[in-house]
Amino acid sequence: MPHSVSPKRNDDEAMPDASAETGGIKLEDMFNDDENDEFPASSAPDVKMESPPAPEIAEPPAPAPSGVDTDVMLAFYQRLFPFRYLFQWLNHGIVPTRDFGNREFALTLQNDAYLRYQSYTTADLFRKDILKMNPSRFEIGPVYSTNPRDRKTLRGGQMKPVSKELVFDIDLTDYDDIRTCCVKANICAKCWAFVTMAIKVIDTALQEDFGFEHILWVYSGRRGAHAWVCDPRARNLPDDRRRAIAGYLEILRGGSQSNKRVNLKRPLHPHVLRSLDILKHSFAQTTLGDQDTFLSEEQAERLLALLPDQNLNEALRKKWGASPDRPSTSKWADIDALAKTGKSSTLNPVTLRDAKQDIVLEYTYPRLDAEVSKKMIHLLKSPFVIHPGTGRVCVPIDARKADEFDPLSVPTVMNLLAEIDAYDAEHPVGTAEVEVPDGEGSAMNGSDIKGGRKLQDYEKTSLKPYVDYFRSFIAGLLKEERAGKRDREGTAPAPKPDPMEF
Ligand SMILES: [Zn+2]
Repeated sequence: MPHSVSPKRNDDEAMPDASAETGGIKLEDMFNDDENDEFPASSAPDVKMESPPAPEIAEPPAPAPSGVDTDVMLAFYQRLFPFRYLFQWLNHGIVPTRDFGNREFALTLQNDAYLRYQSYTTADLFRKDILKMNPSRFEIGPVYSTNPRDRKTLRGGQMKPVSKELVFDIDLTDYDDIRTCCVKANICAKCWAFVTMAIKVIDTALQEDFGFEHILWVYSGRRGAHAWVCDPRARNLPDDRRRAIAGYLEILRGGSQSNKRVNLKRPLHPHVLRSLDILKHSFAQTTLGDQDTFLSEEQAERLLALLPDQNLNEALRKKWGASPDRPSTSKWADIDALAKTGKSSTLNPVTLRDAKQDIVLEYTYPRLDAEVSKKMIHLLKSPFVIHPGTGRVCVPIDARKADEFDPLSVPTVMNLLAEIDAYDAEHPVGTAEVEVPDGEGSAMNGSDIKGGRKLQDYEKTSLKPYVDYFRSFIAGLLKEERAGKRDREGTAPAPKPDPMEF
């Protein structure tokens, strides 16, 4: 059994091994196509369970398409999940604080039970409990004013959310009416470009318009991405400010299949103009396609409906109808070409330009699930968990290299465990027993020494660059936290103008 659940360690903290409990497990229902179930938020049932459910003696679980079963999950948590870094990220430091201890975790167990209000005082306890519960995934909620586990002993209203990262959610399902390459849960490089554009537009706006610097983007494991804005100022935003920011970024509203979503005043807001600059470069590839006929007749009609002039539309319809294989980029060029030939006596160039800008925005501007961003208490799936349907790890995405990110090459948990085995087979541990430095735990089988240091299992795999990026992100965040603390402790720091005003 290559992926045995041997008690391996995935990070270099002293963490006691937890006993491996695998109950009767059902994996069905973990593969529905609706990723919105990632966001149960406040409406989610508060399943009152303080202990794991009694194991059921059930039919053996049906094998998942992704190959992920309970043993695989447990091996992943034991060997690969970066608990220590996740702790540092949420704790904003090394010494455990309330930022971590009062943070809500919500666990989805393998039998689909959903446990809200879990919390952990240390990274050790966090890891131990995740290994014990072996959830199929877990979500992260806000930091509360008290320990979420104590909520029952408090009178109503005494436990309040006090901070959480400002979060954003982009999901390709919201692009189903314009993506023609894939449907439902499927994705390809072509439709992923919509997500890439969304990352660029939102990331740029968050930095340039709001001054945020610590924005962690995370692949949702299938067809979307999440942003976690981790700046202290973002984490402390009250809900009304979150709503305001979501509203600022949401310029597409409504959105039935046929109705125009864009309805912007001119002159365009600088954010919209800058977004257009980012989007127009990718518009041709994503929406118009390259050499294929990306625009069907129906889609061409929809595009024409966004143009302001009936005569021009007639001329375009005629031209496109006569050559159905005409590449979409040529169709886009036809709009200007025919407008110039004076097919319409009433069409003015500004109106046409505005209409074309609207089309680019209509087709490519980020379609945010704004509800996710508006409330501090909203739960969002943790980075580095496994998407049960695809088996892929929810890895961070470096927004500076968003173009290079290929969701289809993100490692699956099965890949990763095989990579550890392959590495260990090539690098057998020497006959001499390796002395484990203090605090490194007892689980050394298969681990290796590199430069006098134990090689972590993740370092043997293609997960390494993602964990390395996460570490560097955390390092930047912790540096700011320390500087911020000095500011607060220092003498009368000059009040800064509130960059949140807009
Ligand atoms: Zn596609």
